[in-house]
Amino acid sequence: MNHIQYHICVANSHSHLFSVKITFPSNINSTYTLSLPAWLPGSYMIRDFAKNIIQPKAFAQQNQPLDLIKIDKQTWQVTAQAETTTLEYQVFAFDLSVRTAYLDNQRGFFNGSSTFLAIEELKELPCQLTIEQPEQQPNWRVATGLTRAKSTEKYQFGEYLAVDYQELIDGPVAIGDFDVSEFTVEGVTHHMVFTSQHFGDTERLCRDVAKLCQHHISLFGEAPFKEYWFITHLQAKGFGGLEHKNSTILQASRFDLPNPNKPEELSDNYKTFLSLCSHEYFHAWNVCRIKPKAFVPYNLQKESYTTQLWAYEGITSYYDDFSLYRTGIIDFDSYLALLAKTATRVYRGLGQHKLSVEDSSFYTWTKFYQQGADAVNNIVSYYTKGALIALWLDLTIRKHSQGQYSLDDLMRELWIHFGRPNIGTQTEDFINITNILCQQDLTSQINQMLTSASALELQPLLAEFGVVKHFSKFKALNSIETVVANQPIPYLGALFQNKELGVKITSVVENSPAAQAGLAVNDILIAVNGIKVTEQSIQQLSEHLPLNKPFSCHYFRDDLLLTTQLSFSDSPLTGISFVVSEEEKAKLWQKIIRN
Ligand code: ZN
Repeated sequence: MNHIQYHICVANSHSHLFSVKITFPSNINSTYTLSLPAWLPGSYMIRDFAKNIIQPKAFAQQNQPLDLIKIDKQTWQVTAQAETTTLEYQVFAFDLSVRTAYLDNQRGFFNGSSTFLAIEELKELPCQLTIEQPEQQPNWRVATGLTRAKSTEKYQFGEYLAVDYQELIDGPVAIGDFDVSEFTVEGVTHHMVFTSQHFGDTERLCRDVAKLCQHHISLFGEAPFKEYWFITHLQAKGFGGLEHKNSTILQASRFDLPNPNKPEELSDNYKTFLSLCSHEYFHAWNVCRIKPKAFVPYNLQKESYTTQLWAYEGITSYYDDFSLYRTGIIDFDSYLALLAKTATRVYRGLGQHKLSVEDSSFYTWTKFYQQGADAVNNIVSYYTKGALIALWLDLTIRKHSQGQYSLDDLMRELWIHFGRPNIGTQTEDFINITNILCQQDLTSQINQMLTSASALELQPLLAEFGVVKHFSKFKALNSIETVVANQPIPYLGALFQNKELGVKITSVVENSPAAQAGLAVNDILIAVNGIKVTEQSIQQLSEHLPLNKPFSCHYFRDDLLLTTQLSFSDSPLTGISFVVSEEEKAKLWQKIIRN
């Protein structure tokens, strides 16, 4: 036996249990270490997946039980007594997120990182995975980017292959009676799988996503996979995605998909879903293959620190919306509106003055992934500010190369020199390539952008590309959409959610009217000036009451009814709008330069 055999089946869908059996080649009297990752690539938080492992047992041949020694929360050891050793356990699967595993009688899903124990000494061995069809589910099928064995047809239960443990856990698997569509781009078959009921126009969706896939393949010059899988968990509400080398797991609402009854409509939700598909697909190159040095190879047992997530998430975020424009799905003004939302997220809080993007990236394990009530005031997102830095790089490269190169060229160079040969990047690599493309030494300027906690100055650069940046006001109390306005617009400085009684505060900007009134995250605001608060009524109240005048405000903090004085101010100019002022110059940004 020169491979590791993994076997998974449904143990009890009502109790959300998978059964896993692993058989590996062993030397008699040798000790083997078994462990589960503590985190999974793309989601930078210690998640302790081993907590869902139930009754692990080890056996020698003929079912002779072996001692399994506990080492720590996610590690066991076993001493072999035969040429093969077998492990058996169950996995509790009840997390509908994209990160772990889920099972009920409607569908099943698992990431290998939270399901399959690694045999540390044999991590380089090929893996064979048998996925067994549940007897009660004759209509269920399989969707995964893992390689099918010769005996297994596409969508069938059976044997799947991985070259090693890392590849095994990078191929999440969905099982169920799902809907699937296929399309081909550059000879690569792409699969669109929906694991629950939907009402979407999948033909239109495939047409649009195919354009985005073509865009990314052209940008990098090649598709580094033989097939690709978009696997979407549809729910009532939900949003998110996780990238893998030839697949992505997405989470969306059933109603985010394009409405077949309205073929002309391009809803905001549909645009957001397309942008998510674009984002995760871009990651197939940028972070799954071009990676920070700290991730080559991954150490999944504990935190892996990198200061480069501004590049891996920021550049990816820049292209997710920009590719919608470049493929003709949205026009340039709509693109600028999306970019303005990103910029507003950076500028509306105080975090950009307190944390650099390098530090935001380094502390992702705590500050970003475990955000507290203070997030809007004390952290800057390496996604949003990273996207603005990507914009700065794109325009700077275009400017200094007299329109000969763009950020596309930086990405292509990274692909050729780091992604394809699997060499980890350092920050200098991004700077060096930029300097070469620009024929200028921009090292200190770029370092300053990455390491200092100060606002990014985009205005002069944008002006050279015919776009004016305005500081604008917030359109409504509970919105980060902005508007250029001379008249006063009421502002609270808090975002909130409608509740059965009142509205629940979800963020409070430092020094805003809400902060000055002493309101905090999780407070339930129930009345202002004696009028019952709803999301709608508080907006109307703010428009009818005079600004900067205090009014009584009643709210619950936990179960205590409290009173304060609250006033609405005129909206500060911390929103961002972008407007094209010179069409000709804007073309220099819109132009796709091909080699
Ligand atoms: Zn991402």
